[in-house]
Amino acid sequence: MPPSLADRSLGFRQTYLDHERLTAQLHTWAEAFPAVCRVRSIARTPEGRDVWLAVIGRDPDRVRPAVWIDGNMHAAELAGSSVALAIAEDALRLHVEPGTLDVPETVAERLGEILFYVVPRISPDGAETVLRVGRSVRSVPRDTRVERGRPRWLPGDVDGDGVALAMRVRDPGGELVEAPEFPGLLVERTLEDHGPFYKLYPEGMIEHYDGKRIPAPFFLGDNPIDLNRNFPWSWAPGHEQVGAGPFPASEPEARGVVEFTTAHPEIFAWLNIHTFGGVLIRPLGHAPDAKMDQEDLAIFRQVEAWMTEHTGYPTVSGHEEFLYEPDKPLRGDMTDYAYNQRGALAYVIELWDLFKRLGMERPPKFAQYYERVSRADILKLARWDQEENAGRTFPPWRPFEHPQLGEVEIGGIDPRVGIWNPPLHELGRMCHTQAQAFLRVAALAPRIRIGDVRRDALAGGVTRVEVEVVNDGYLGSYGVPSAKKLDFNEPIYATATTERCELVDAGAAHQTLGHLDGWGHGLHTGQNLPAYPGTRGNTHVAFASYLVRGTGALELRIGSCRAGFVTTRITI
Ligand SMILES: [Zn+2]
Repeated sequence: MPPSLADRSLGFRQTYLDHERLTAQLHTWAEAFPAVCRVRSIARTPEGRDVWLAVIGRDPDRVRPAVWIDGNMHAAELAGSSVALAIAEDALRLHVEPGTLDVPETVAERLGEILFYVVPRISPDGAETVLRVGRSVRSVPRDTRVERGRPRWLPGDVDGDGVALAMRVRDPGGELVEAPEFPGLLVERTLEDHGPFYKLYPEGMIEHYDGKRIPAPFFLGDNPIDLNRNFPWSWAPGHEQVGAGPFPASEPEARGVVEFTTAHPEIFAWLNIHTFGGVLIRPLGHAPDAKMDQEDLAIFRQVEAWMTEHTGYPTVSGHEEFLYEPDKPLRGDMTDYAYNQRGALAYVIELWDLFKRLGMERPPKFAQYYERVSRADILKLARWDQEENAGRTFPPWRPFEHPQLGEVEIGGIDPRVGIWNPPLHELGRMCHTQAQAFLRVAALAPRIRIGDVRRDALAGGVTRVEVEVVNDGYLGSYGVPSAKKLDFNEPIYATATTERCELVDAGAAHQTLGHLDGWGHGLHTGQNLPAYPGTRGNTHVAFASYLVRGTGALELRIGSCRAGFVTTRITI
């Protein structure tokens, strides 16, 4: 027996892979299953790593509906790579170990026809820094700013142990204090505390230090670009949107994504994976639900139902529950680009429902979870870390003589596994449940096929040929309804060429058939109520008609750049 997919796994369901292993995983698949897996690079990073794209599905050059999955655009969010790889592996399983994937037969059958574009790690340079050095990097570990004058923190390993974690300095004016119940754990100071008190900084050095004044650490560190603010739709410059970068798609990682997806209008669904929070964030990001296409919203309610069923994660609107500042939509983020500019059924998954594990009550707006972590919650987190996470998150502090600040302590906090990402023993289940939910979304694809073909002999050696074109898919040939407005989203058309015979009207060789609806319409649209029985008419069907003189054959190619193309040969 040849090795199974499980035998070929390099362990991404159990651990976080570095770039070398992630690269090896993708190439292992491509070499073992060349008929259904190809790997290519969509960008090269400044540190010389490839941003890999895996194309999974039979006959990858045939244009047809496709889904996009990406992870780890934020450097620390390694779990996204594992989940993206798990979805890729499940997609492969459909072809190389048919009948073994845990999805309904009807779903498996649909999925067998679509293409999966999977970019498991958008920021390989960032992920590598987090894995090796441990320090916080938002997206990419580089600093190409021109402004160099202000004193600032340069995070890095100063005690020579190879990792860059946190640094605390005793200071009567410190905002933090050790929790009496948990030695070493820093919590917010209250009026009742006696001290000692602490200031908290990244492990690192201060550039332009005057020996007296200590700058506040910047939350984006010395790597100020956030790839998730660098996309072209609604992009705004740095003084309006922190992390934007100098211009839209200025970064090679973002540019590679934009170039590939612009050349692939057949991408109808887009999963952008982050950690953490345990939530699905859907459009709109920039306006309330009342301004959203209501048919799109109904389809997102179906996605929400699958998320609830398979993962337990809630679904929220980016605008309604995920603005960090009221009335200030994020600019230049990826799913805004994917939904508004590429017309994809696009959303973010924030993996890892740590807040729920800590028993925190859900705040009115989901994003408030991040700001409402109390002193008691931090204590719960530390106890959870000891019991379930091998104490990885809160390692001990070690005294160190800092070249600039003197007596400090280094260590203390390592959020990589436990906060930024789930503990390793949770990863396998997370991969499974996320794939279960997403595979159903992928199965919503439109499916254009050729139905009945009628030939009627008319007088004078002329045959009338009528070809039925059908969309059997859940979504219309346009994808989500709001995508109809996009200029690239052309209607279905038919191109005919003749062999030996000829068309009576040569102009009929090209016919525009229009968009075809699907059978799906989302959830909670009132379609179930028998008070007024009725559905759409057969708006999922169109007809191409030809008058052909003589005998021979008619070759037809029917479809669109989004729905893909089907071909047939009709003998006359
Ligand atoms: Zn993120």
